[in-house]
Amino acid sequence: MGQLDNKVAWVTGSGRGIGFSIAQKLASEGATIVLHDIVEENVINATREMEEAGYKAIGLVSDVTSTENVEENVKTIVEDLGSLDILVNNAGITRDGLLVRMKDEDWDLVMKINLKGSFLCTRAAGKVMMKQKSGCIVNIASVVGVMGNAGQANYSASKAGLIGLTKSSAKELAARGITVNAVAPGYIETDMTSVLPTATREAFLNQTPLRKAGTPEDVANVVAFLASPSASYITGQVIHVDGGMVM
Ligand code: NAD
Repeated sequence: MGQLDNKVAWVTGSGRGIGFSIAQKLASEGATIVLHDIVEENVINATREMEEAGYKAIGLVSDVTSTENVEENVKTIVEDLGSLDILVNNAGITRDGLLVRMKDEDWDLVMKINLKGSFLCTRAAGKVMMKQKSGCIVNIASVVGVMGNAGQANYSASKAGLIGLTKSSAKELAARGITVNAVAPGYIETDMTSVLPTATREAFLNQTPLRKAGTPEDVANVVAFLASPSASYITGQVIHVDGGMVM
């Protein structure tokens, strides 16, 4: 018996990294998982790994920035799995650079995937959850959306925007029994952070009182809690999983 038995959870950007870890954790609690990513190979591999572990999962390859793709995803999920109970807006990218040299396209792409993508998925899933009169949405923000970061004006603005989206949707959807929260990870070891220069990594760790990087599982554990009945009286919150970086 898991805390999420009979629940259907859609995790965006779950072909690898934190998203895949969240998918595994929610599945271990009994949820049926919708693995979703823009990279087909990663969706195929992630779905196979979940099935080999004995978990229930389907894979969808599509782009969170396409209204058409997102609406189609929700239609498929409801038709094939019968409901949509949990949405985790995890898909995200970085295109770092100093503000005065930042290219328009790097600003636009980061805002489009990290913020508009989350809006599109929330809108589409929200309609289903409103009809069900239940649901849970967890947005993967970042500490830099709260404290800012030199070299990440686009990324931190997108994550600050995601926190605003979290709070507004929490207020709008609460009357229908839907909770919306954000998790703000600090420095987590994944493919996304493996490309950072050693100096940047050290700068993050120097700002982390616990003096170590987090793992995708550290984030997944908190998402699973927020998606569980134990967190049913929590909404509109930003939970930091950052070794104490922001306090
Ligand atoms: P990652 O690059 O390993 O995973 C991101 C996933 O999103 C990838 O599989 C990618 O293919 C997918 N994706 C990108 N664009 C997409 C699109 N348009 N449509 C669908 N899927 C798309 O990165 P990660 O480190 O696992 O990060 C996951 C989330 O956590 C991101 O939102 C990131 O901003 C956030 N985060 C990460 C850290 C960290 O230290 N790694 C810290 C704070 C927040």
